[in-house]
Amino acid sequence: MSEKRLKLQISTPDKDFYDGDADMVIVNSVTGEMGILPKHLPLVTILDIGIIRIKNGNDEKRVSIDSGFMEIKNSEISILTDSAEWPEDIDLGRAEKARQRAEERINAKKDTHTDFLRAEMSLKRAINRIRNAKG
Ligand code: ATP
Repeated sequence: MSEKRLKLQISTPDKDFYDGDADMVIVNSVTGEMGILPKHLPLVTILDIGIIRIKNGNDEKRVSIDSGFMEIKNSEISILTDSAEWPEDIDLGRAEKARQRAEERINAKKDTHTDFLRAEMSLKRAINRIRNAKG
């Protein structure tokens, strides 16, 4: 197997979202942004809500994801996340509404702590989708 390129798989509960090669992959791990090149050391980590950047030469593809797990082994990256979208898949109106709903819940301050955390996560996902859709 050639280890000059990365293999990347992104899966969600619904489908195998992406399966392809890459020169470099940039992810948002819970400890910060991480650039992964071929021959990276084996690793398992948790990804935060963010945008995965898949680089091939001058081309860069962007996928917005929910939080998830990432495993790196033998230049193969596997990512499992609850949701994944290309910019063109994103319904900007839906994301704007989700952001507004979450902001209203946060500002109302009458819900439980759990509801507050859920609203914060929802807000983060919405802002992430808006960022990906707008480039
Ligand atoms: P909403 O409140 O609008 O449902 P959400 O953050 O709760 O947003 P998720 O539970 O993260 O939604 O996602 C459920 C499914 O809907 C996933 O497949 C996700 O990719 C898709 N999805 C969510 N928001 C959008 C959007 N704005 N545009 C396109 N697909 C979306």
